[in-house]
Amino acid sequence: MKSIIHRNSQLYDTERAGFQRLALHEPDLVVPAASPEDVREAVAHAAAAGLPVAVQAAGHGLPVPATEGLLINTNRLSSVTVDPVTATARIEAGARWHQVIAEAARHGLAPLSGSSPGVGAVPYTLGGGLSLMARPYGYAADQVRAIDVVTADAEPRHVTPGDDLHGDLYWALVGGRSNFGVVTALEIGLVPVERIYGGALYFDAGHAGEALRTWAAWTASLPDEMTSSIAIIPFPDAPQAPERFRGRTVATVRIAFTGGAEEGEDLVRPLRAIGPRLVDTVGVMPYTASASIHDDPTEPAGYYATHSVLRELPPAAVDALLDVTGCVVEVRHLGGALSKPQSYPNSVGNRDAGYSASLLSPGLAPGTDTTALRPAHDRARDALAPWSTGGRLLNFLYGENATPEEVRRAYEPADYRRLAELKAEWDPRNMFRLNHNIPVS
Ligand SMILES: Cc1cc2nc3c(=O)[nH]c(=O)nc-3n(C[C@H](O)[C@H](O)[C@H](O)COP(=O)(O)OP(=O)(O)OC[C@H]3O[C@@H](n4cnc5c(N)ncnc54)[C@H](O)[C@@H]3O)c2cc1C
Repeated sequence: MKSIIHRNSQLYDTERAGFQRLALHEPDLVVPAASPEDVREAVAHAAAAGLPVAVQAAGHGLPVPATEGLLINTNRLSSVTVDPVTATARIEAGARWHQVIAEAARHGLAPLSGSSPGVGAVPYTLGGGLSLMARPYGYAADQVRAIDVVTADAEPRHVTPGDDLHGDLYWALVGGRSNFGVVTALEIGLVPVERIYGGALYFDAGHAGEALRTWAAWTASLPDEMTSSIAIIPFPDAPQAPERFRGRTVATVRIAFTGGAEEGEDLVRPLRAIGPRLVDTVGVMPYTASASIHDDPTEPAGYYATHSVLRELPPAAVDALLDVTGCVVEVRHLGGALSKPQSYPNSVGNRDAGYSASLLSPGLAPGTDTTALRPAHDRARDALAPWSTGGRLLNFLYGENATPEEVRRAYEPADYRRLAELKAEWDPRNMFRLNHNIPVS
């Protein structure tokens, strides 16, 4: 192997660090992969040495951190090319969404990227991928056209939907992610979107309850072209918070409408009537400006998060959310194309979901003991239980919460059984276990 980094190397800390800083992977070895061949060699080395393998791109989705084994860092494997004729992009394992958004926009196209353009496009997509345009276009995973992957036998494979040679490997990888191999590149479909009617409305703490109630009722009768979410954020009085919101709690409704501006304005009117807006950025914007909709943090930090997948969001569920204190509450509206049949079936679950409700404790110092945070998160999840599907979104399972029991909830029961069987076929030694693991059945 060209390059391999040990625990005592000066490069060890930088090569293992990603966006999540609460706890980091602590593998025995790190391979900074710069080519698909580097990935193949790393997997071959791990297989021969009997080492478990972890893989990391931007590191927003760190699961239970590895304490052993080999970590493949894909940051250097990050090219993006767009084919405007087929409206597809080929994205390498370490590419970030902002790269894909910029390349696609040159051809009047857009990817199904999410709230933060700093997230790794490949892990996001293989974990489902809940995009800003989720309701008109479905999960980002539904756009996967081809996969280049190195499987546990260290073989590079090109996998497509309905592929006779590789059986169900496509179905398993799209949703099952690194349980079935290390993906070196994806080919994904892009959508013909240059502009959206979108942005965010911010309300002060005194209107947060009304904002959540109004938004929840409003989502009951929207066209699929409208994707939205709401967050109630208690900003700390600290430099990492936007200056205008420091020390304040605000409610923010985020909008991305792929229909016309006039219709968008009509649809958003009831939200604008909630009360005085601290900020209103909703208008026609190029998709390249879509990061401003959620305005997610861009600096690496520690965070603890939990979520529930909800069937519906009646007033009693809204009240349960309004009882939460001390953490960020975010609710995303699902449904639309997320619930419709896909052109290329995959193992992503939660097709019956109406909403996702997340709780986030951000700004945690590395090594923070999360014991004191858990009760508030658990109480909120218990309070939402009457409306919960019991499901989980794989992409929103972080750190200590990414246990095999929680991972199981990301899939339909029959799909999970099939994934466990395929795991036995493709990775019988569970070499790929330092992840959102599906153990061998
Ligand atoms: C601020 C923020 C905003 C977010 N917004 C959204 C959103 O809008 N929608 C949404 O769906 N999710 C969202 N997420 C979740 C995010 O999509 C997932 O955490 C995703 O895994 C992040 O990709 P990454 O490269 O940053 O993560 P990483 O931590 O690098 O990867 C996560 C996991 O993916 C697997 N993986 C990584 N590389 C490969 C590979 N090459 N082959 C196979 N498996 C691999 C590994 O198991 C790894 O542990 C958000 C997260 C944060 C922190």
